[in-house]
Amino acid sequence: ARFYRELPKVELHAHLNGSVSFVTMEKLINRKPHLNIEKSMTAIGKGQRRTLDECFEVFKVIHKLVNTEEDILMVATDVIREFAADGVKYLELRSTPREEKDTRLTKQSYIETVIRAIQQCKNEGLDIDVRFLVAIDRRNGTEVAMETVKLAEEFMLSSGGQVVGIDLSGDPKVGHGKYLLPALEKAKNCGLKLSLHLSEVPSQLEETDLLLNLPPDRIGHGTFLHPEMGGTQHLVDKVVKNRIPLELCLTSNVKGQTVQNYSQHHFRYWYQLGHPCVICTDDKGVFCTDLSQEYQLAAATFNLSHEAVWKLSQQAVDCIFAEEALKEQLKEKWTKLQPQVL
Ligand code: 5GP
Repeated sequence: ARFYRELPKVELHAHLNGSVSFVTMEKLINRKPHLNIEKSMTAIGKGQRRTLDECFEVFKVIHKLVNTEEDILMVATDVIREFAADGVKYLELRSTPREEKDTRLTKQSYIETVIRAIQQCKNEGLDIDVRFLVAIDRRNGTEVAMETVKLAEEFMLSSGGQVVGIDLSGDPKVGHGKYLLPALEKAKNCGLKLSLHLSEVPSQLEETDLLLNLPPDRIGHGTFLHPEMGGTQHLVDKVVKNRIPLELCLTSNVKGQTVQNYSQHHFRYWYQLGHPCVICTDDKGVFCTDLSQEYQLAAATFNLSHEAVWKLSQQAVDCIFAEEALKEQLKEKWTKLQPQVL
C-alpha cells in the first residue's frame, strides 16, 4: 500500500462535490443541523452499490449542504489538501457552478471561490498544482451550457490560467448532446479544453458518435464505447485515431453498477490496445476511495507490476490540460522521484 501512496499521481477526473470526505461532511452537517442530513446519505460505503440514479440523488443531498461561498471554500481547500496528502502532484477539479438565491451565491462567485481555494492552497505551499474545469450539467440544456462556456472563457482569460477547460457531466439519461454541441464548439474555439462524459450508459451511441466529431480532448468513462459492451468498432476507431485519453474510474463504475465487477472493467480493453488510460477517482467522497486505492485496485485486478503502474501514472502527465511548461516540470518531478519510489 505504501508504494501506491508514495507513487506521484495525476488526478484528472474529480467532481468537487463528489470528492467531499467524511471529515468535511461532518463539518458541513454541523453547520446545517436543521437539514437533518446524516452521513450515510452522502456516501456509498464498502461493498455497497447503488444504481446510477441513486448516485444522482446523493448529489442532491450534498448540494443542500454546500450552498454558500464559505462552504465551497472549505470543501475545495479540504479536497485539495486531501489529494495532496494522498500523493497527487497535479489535480484537475471540476464543478458545476450553481446559483443559490437564499444565500446569494451566484455562478460567478461560485467559480471565484473555487479559484480562491486553489490560490490559498498554493500559498500554503502544498506540493500540488491545481487547475479547474467548469462543468456543464447536461440536463440544463442549450442556453445554460452556452452561458457556462461564456463564464469559463471569461475566467480563463482573467484567472491567470487556473480555468483550463469544460466538463460535460450530469445524469446521462437526461438530455441529448446535440443540444449542447454549439456551446461545446464555442468552448473549443476559444481555447478551452474539453473533457466529456461519453457512453457512460448503453444506448448513447448516436450522441457519442456526434460528440466525438468535435473531437473532445479527453473522455470520461466511455464504458459502452467498445463492441464487447454493445458499442461499435467505428467509435473505437475514432477514439484511437485521435488518441483521445480515457479517464477511468473503477470503484465509481462498479458501485454505480454500470460495470458488473472489477475484472470486467473496460480498463482491460483500452489498456491492452495501448491506448492512453488515466486512472481517476470520479467522486472520492461519495464512493469512499482515494487515488492510491484506485491504482492499487487496478494493479490487483489486471495484474500490473510496479513498473507498469509507474508508467501509468507517468503517462497521465501527457494528458493534462495545463500549459506545456507545467507539463515539463511535472515530468522532471517524476524523473526525480522514480529512484526513490520504484
Ligand atoms: P459538482 O459539479 O456539484 O461539484 O459535483 C457533483 C456533480 O458532478 C453531479 O451533480 C453530476 O452533475 C456530476 N457527476 C458526479 N459524478 C458523476 C458521474 O459519475 N457521472 C456523471 N455523468 N456525472 C457525475
